[in-house]
Amino acid sequence: MKKNISRREFLKIGGYLATGFGLSQYYTDVFASGLNNLVSGTPKIIWLQAQSCSGCSVSFLNANGPYIQQIITELVSIMFHPTISAAQGDVAIDIIKNVSSADFPFIFIVEGAIPLDMPKACMIGEETFEDMAIPLLKRAKYIMAAGTCATYGGIPSAEGNPTGAVGVMDFMKNKNIPYKGRLVNCPLCPTHPASIIGTLAYLAGKGYPDVDEKLLTPHMFYAHSVHYNCPRYHFYEKGIFADKFGDEGCLFKLGCLGPLSYTTCPWRQWNGGINWCIRAAAPCIGCSHPYFAKFKDFPFYRKGEKYHQVKYQEKDRTSK
Ligand code: SF4
Ligand code: SF4
Repeated sequence: MKKNISRREFLKIGGYLATGFGLSQYYTDVFASGLNNLVSGTPKIIWLQAQSCSGCSVSFLNANGPYIQQIITELVSIMFHPTISAAQGDVAIDIIKNVSSADFPFIFIVEGAIPLDMPKACMIGEETFEDMAIPLLKRAKYIMAAGTCATYGGIPSAEGNPTGAVGVMDFMKNKNIPYKGRLVNCPLCPTHPASIIGTLAYLAGKGYPDVDEKLLTPHMFYAHSVHYNCPRYHFYEKGIFADKFGDEGCLFKLGCLGPLSYTTCPWRQWNGGINWCIRAAAPCIGCSHPYFAKFKDFPFYRKGEKYHQVKYQEKDRTSK
């Protein structure tokens, strides 16, 4: 196992992250320098889970690429992570509380939604997640909401849920904690490991990235729709649509939500670039969308213009 990563090797990782997203050399350099900073311990990282399935942690820990596993599990200073930290019980609580009053810069990663109307629905030890998180949200240099539950509420906020589950931005607004220029949203269910690592590296190397004004998603990973970069887009343009699963053609009439989903799935794919939803002939279910799993009028498969106004949504995003 390597103990030190050289500058050349950081550049290799930066290049791997940047090219996988179709980003320029500028990002290679920023990612390399950010990862170097993270390995040097500035800023540090703390990760807490609220109402979540831990899927985003699993996704993060399945990151692949040169030295990535070693960097995230051995070299980066993650002060606490519920899945990978050895600390338990009172020791873990003390670590979290100490970070809350620390004078060093840190990035606070939140996975999962926060039960605003029922704080005791999510506990860390004897305390509510809310009570543990508020000091961290106030003090962190940057906050990252990892996954659609943490960004927009996602599955825990499904219509009818009694906990009042919300994403981090709504929670911070509710508690009057400043979030602009501090909070970055990285949706997807689960979020993509390369988006987490790339965003962390950018925050550590350059600072707060360019984000969508309303959604706070970083442009570098969330500016383009799945639809326009889909390998089946030529079928869409020619009006060749699959009528049943397994047919050749665009999956639009089978309910594909690709036109409403802004993310890098067509380039980066999943599981180390092995495959992704549409290449596996499954319609995109819109897991990066703010309404994903939230409203019954926004089901996994597109119902039609009444509920999924594709043209309006595209115009809304491109008019910025
Ligand atoms: S509707 Fe879906 S399958 Fe068709 S081109 Fe768009 S993203 Fe691809
Ligand atoms: S293709 Fe759609 S459903 Fe699949 S991971 Fe990407 S955004 Fe989510």
